[in-house]
Amino acid sequence: MRQTIVAGNWKMNASKEAVNTLVMGILSGMADVKSKVIICAPSPYLSQAEALTTHSQLHVGAQDLNVNASGAFTGEVSADMIKDFGVEYVIVGHSERRSLYGETNEIVAQKVQVALDNDLTPLFCIGETLAERESGNMESVVSRQIQVVIDLVGIDAFKNIIVAYEPVWAIGTGVTATPQQAQDAHAFIRSMLAENNTDVAQATPILYGGSMNPVNAEELIGCEDIDGGLIGGASLKSDDFLHICKAG
Ligand code: PEP
Repeated sequence: MRQTIVAGNWKMNASKEAVNTLVMGILSGMADVKSKVIICAPSPYLSQAEALTTHSQLHVGAQDLNVNASGAFTGEVSADMIKDFGVEYVIVGHSERRSLYGETNEIVAQKVQVALDNDLTPLFCIGETLAERESGNMESVVSRQIQVVIDLVGIDAFKNIIVAYEPVWAIGTGVTATPQQAQDAHAFIRSMLAENNTDVAQATPILYGGSMNPVNAEELIGCEDIDGGLIGGASLKSDDFLHICKAG
């Protein structure tokens, strides 16, 4: 039985005051939440997020890492740095990183490897664009994204990876995949993992991301192969986020 996981991706939205209000709001409603809940804060706020969530059920994640351990990489953040702030999770390969910052499948795979090597659990994002879906290429795009990671880290490493299926056309658009579309994609992803190792496939959490909100969360998370959500916009309001956390 896989535990439901709900992760909030705040993206580049935060201030000291907003983080305080949001985290305190989430903490105040966590008593009856059974899901594992992760908040992925922008790097400058990881320290604050860690301090606010110590001894709570909330876990902290970062939104990206650099594959290098240290050195002349202006503006970048290493695995060691984020671990210094009690971070346990890191988003890797978000479609915004892929499309805006040129992250290829190979770079994403390296980031997954570096995260694992540093005992961070990657939230490994995959998903197709609208054009890729409409041309019937969803499965080939997603399987390529996964295969490159399997080739680098091996299928057993997926015991420590959370997969997030995020169709690009659903991220931040208000257009959500239907439960059937999402379930079909998740079942495909799990079957692909199962071709390599059935036990690992059954154990790997596969989250859905793309305009998940308090209204559609229950139906999506209720699907057999959907193990929770990676939430963007709706993770910025504690009431909405908590509603989703309680859907699992
Ligand atoms: C995301 O950025 O990962 C995401 C799913 O965003 P949204 O929920 O806003 O679509």
